[in-house]
Amino acid sequence: MIVGDRKPLAEIAEMLEPFQKVCVLGCGTCVTVCLSGGEKEAAETAAALNLLMQKEGKTKEFSPGVILRQCEYEYIDDYAANLEGYDVILSLACGVGVQTMNSRLPEKIILPGLNTRFMGYPLEQGVWQENCLGCGDCVLDLTMGICPITRCSKSMLNGPCGGSQEGKCEISKELDCAWQLIYDRLIKFNAVERMEAVQPPKDWSTSHHGGPRTIVREDVRVDNREQT
Ligand code: SF4
Ligand code: SF4
Repeated sequence: MIVGDRKPLAEIAEMLEPFQKVCVLGCGTCVTVCLSGGEKEAAETAAALNLLMQKEGKTKEFSPGVILRQCEYEYIDDYAANLEGYDVILSLACGVGVQTMNSRLPEKIILPGLNTRFMGYPLEQGVWQENCLGCGDCVLDLTMGICPITRCSKSMLNGPCGGSQEGKCEISKELDCAWQLIYDRLIKFNAVERMEAVQPPKDWSTSHHGGPRTIVREDVRVDNREQT
């Protein structure tokens, strides 16, 4: 899932200063699951902003709403009529959702209420871990399912750097060394000889380093360019 957390209320209030009537719009998918931008958080954020404005003696209006997925045109289209009459939409979706909304509703202003952090998963209630940087050429088959691009602070591809100490990364004693984790799993599955295989330099052109990416699947494509 994409993981984010809500911007501080004061920052949001400052961003919304020029506007009177605001829709605080949650998203029903990733940010609901990571408890930062779903229906509940949209209601809480709108209530907190209304209270703040009352305290400051300002007459502004914040109303909550939610779209199941702000990152897909179909869901935006289904909800669009509900957004009429607002001066601005504060989106609690990830950055993908905010941009999809702006693309689909170009006459409206949609501002970000979250800081989008990373792709990852919940380790436990309230703890999320980044584990994929979308490099475009996955190597998890070589590393026993642990991503060295993301989980190693230096994205090392051929074993640990010299800073690994007692299983921890040199940048923090709280952070497991990714290569220690990979090594432990290689031992567990009797495949430690794989540590000796030398991986060639990675071609980063498949990652964001090669520029913004687009995937085209002709086998499932429906040409809707006229609609967009
Ligand atoms: S190797 Fe690349 S695609 Fe695979 S998990 Fe890591 S960053 Fe993601
Ligand atoms: S200590 Fe381990 S995780 Fe940290 S940078 Fe070095 S190899 Fe990567």
